[in-house]
Amino acid sequence: MDGPPPTRHAFLYFPDGDLVLMAAGRDGKVAFRIHSSVLGRHSPVFADMMALPMAEGTDKYDGIPSVDLQDDPHDFELFLSSMYKPGHPLFKHYDPDFPVIAHGVMGLARKYQVDDLLSAITNHLVQQWPCSAAELVQFQETVRQTIRTTIEFSNEPTYGIYQSKLPEPASAVRLAMDFDIPAILPGAFYILATMNRACVWTNALGIWHGSDLPARWNVLDEEDNARLLEGQKALAKELLRYQGLFRQQSRHSRTCQKEWDRLAKHYFDISDPNLPGDMRAIRRADPMHRLSLLFEDCVTGELCADCSHGLRVKVKNTMLDLWDSLPVMFNLEISQTQYP
Ligand SMILES: [Zn+2]
Repeated sequence: MDGPPPTRHAFLYFPDGDLVLMAAGRDGKVAFRIHSSVLGRHSPVFADMMALPMAEGTDKYDGIPSVDLQDDPHDFELFLSSMYKPGHPLFKHYDPDFPVIAHGVMGLARKYQVDDLLSAITNHLVQQWPCSAAELVQFQETVRQTIRTTIEFSNEPTYGIYQSKLPEPASAVRLAMDFDIPAILPGAFYILATMNRACVWTNALGIWHGSDLPARWNVLDEEDNARLLEGQKALAKELLRYQGLFRQQSRHSRTCQKEWDRLAKHYFDISDPNLPGDMRAIRRADPMHRLSLLFEDCVTGELCADCSHGLRVKVKNTMLDLWDSLPVMFNLEISQTQYP
């Protein structure tokens, strides 16, 4: 055997295992001693491989057959754990590192055709991200609440500690793009479009993020960045359109008309004086959030019952339309039927 002796894995090295798999890491090989029956039950690729008769001169380790793999030991540990601890969740809810860790494991699940693991990771990702207008509004509220309570309940100055409590959208986009999980893309792109690009992810706490969340912007490729920019422009246009959309509505009493105009101006006039000309309002426009605020505000104020109800219905329908337009706005080129 070449190189330094392999390290035995801390818990995936079973004394009654009948096969050793060597994963090749940067720091040398890691030996996993497992049961070929368990592996074969989950992976048809391994089942086929193990059905072949062992050739003369097959490598041996610890007295049993050993197979060298080119897979990363950390990924391989999670990959095998999913088979040995099927009820044990591999990933925590809202873990911002989940898409990064899952990326390697997902690669192994695809390579060795472990369908249960593929669907477990896919489902976990889909559960972390909004897949409807209502879920998007709820998600944004959760983010705001998490930041608010973290800041309020912290005695120390809060140095971005809420970044560990919320999912991270750029790595989620990467996982979804690379492994064909389109359901989360409209929601995750929308969230990214409303985030501050200057706020860069760092694993070290101690970076002041104010109430802005950081993202792993560096994992986005050129196409993703182009999508993001197009989407941001489209969202800003949408906000500007709403000013007119909500103003022209009521031909009711003078009081109602005035209130419609006031609400339209209050929620949708967002021109940013720091930006020149047609770039105004483009930066981080968040029409869904504005609509959700207006939705709550419909019942108070100066509107009569009819107008209040009418406005609420209009806002709700606008939110649903906005959600449906996201794939086009972000140029996701996926047919609507694929969304759940
Ligand atoms: Zn009215």
